[in-house]
Amino acid sequence: MPKQISILGATGSIGQSALDIIRSHPEQFSVYGLSAYSQIQAVAKAALEFQAKVVVLNHHQQTTEFQEHWHQACQALAKPSCPPRPPELRFGQEGLKSIATDAEVDSVVCAIVGTAGLASAYAAACAGKTILLANKEAMVAAGELFMAAVAKHQATVLPLDSEHNAIFQCLQQAHAQQYIQNVILTASGGPFRQTPLADLSHVTPEQACKHPNWRMGRKISVDSATMLNKGLEIIEAKWLFNLPWQQIKVLIHPESIVHSLVQYQDGSLLAQLGHADMRIPISYAMAYPHRVSNNSRSLALHELTQLNFSLPDLQRFPCLQLAYQAMAASQSHCLVLNAANEIAVAAFLQGKIGFTQIAQVIDTMLQAHQTQTFHQIDDVLAFDSECRQRTSQLLKQPLD
Ligand code: NDP
Ligand code: MG
Repeated sequence: MPKQISILGATGSIGQSALDIIRSHPEQFSVYGLSAYSQIQAVAKAALEFQAKVVVLNHHQQTTEFQEHWHQACQALAKPSCPPRPPELRFGQEGLKSIATDAEVDSVVCAIVGTAGLASAYAAACAGKTILLANKEAMVAAGELFMAAVAKHQATVLPLDSEHNAIFQCLQQAHAQQYIQNVILTASGGPFRQTPLADLSHVTPEQACKHPNWRMGRKISVDSATMLNKGLEIIEAKWLFNLPWQQIKVLIHPESIVHSLVQYQDGSLLAQLGHADMRIPISYAMAYPHRVSNNSRSLALHELTQLNFSLPDLQRFPCLQLAYQAMAASQSHCLVLNAANEIAVAAFLQGKIGFTQIAQVIDTMLQAHQTQTFHQIDDVLAFDSECRQRTSQLLKQPLD
């Protein structure tokens, strides 16, 4: 029987790569549920191609649009006279939670961007599912509660983020965890690795979204440019691999060939290498503990001229420093870091603030925060929404 998979965020960059792997291996994987937020045509086409049982849209008002696109997609089929049964439509956060928890579902790809994906990822954990996690913001906002739910309900988390997937691969030996000295997350340094510092305040959203090595959604592209993405990833690594923050290091590696490394106490350094193609980590997690082909290019080491590594410049990338500070402070500081960043990045993408002001906004929000403890995911979500409102208020005042 093929594994039944739900993809939360099926219309995004990760969601589409996951569908590409399913397309190549119909005997191993099949689609149960797909979700979209604004790209209704794309999800209608995918639902038809993969014969999804359920599609989750943001709200009921998108029903007619979905039905029109479904109808058009059916007409483009070779035999339009016998269209397949349309999927059941569900809506909003409750719909997302349902396709993350339905009994038929084996694995849930969590690929919604931002804390909008937290409640459904958490529901999948409470239902004991295999979670293929791309949505790092969920782990940053609520890693402690999330991992407690995973343990309590015997769920499994397999990381899709390329760095964590690399570390996970390097840990596949008996008792590996207890001998870790450090994990080293690599970072490309993004589009502004060599931009003169004085020019950073004037860079545009288009420049920030033009990543040198990866093609990704706009929010994570900006996060890569500020290196807050690496900041979120060190926090993600702390929870995924149960490590103290002092053991999580970052190295700039502009070629994005070495995806991350584990340094063991005996001096061995293990790494996972490959081209910058998210289908590699996604297919590993989907087929785990087996491996499947994924249409990516094989890496020919002799074709590489050089691999460079250096320590990150924290003056250029203050967001990375802020993430270390938040991680060392508390879980609720990490939540504030993430919520403030989501609002600041959205404002930057809309041209309302400058690039360097993203770090300023996060810093101001962190400085004003006093540690809080949460026992329920609903408390996390309520505080996340409060932080977003406060960050939005802050943005109404003039920034330096
Ligand atoms: P995209 O922007 O390409 O896709 C985001 C997905 O989330 C889309 O399906 C979008 O729907 C959906 N979505 C957006 N807002 C909401 C909302 N409020 N409620 C429900 N669904 C929503 O992002 P990526 O695929 O690049 O990234 C997804 C996640 O994976 C992020 O957390 C990112 O950090 C992580 N990640 C991504 C990597 C990459 O290579 N892209 C690498 C490692 C991690 P629609 O398009 O229909 O509006
Ligand atoms: Mg990554």
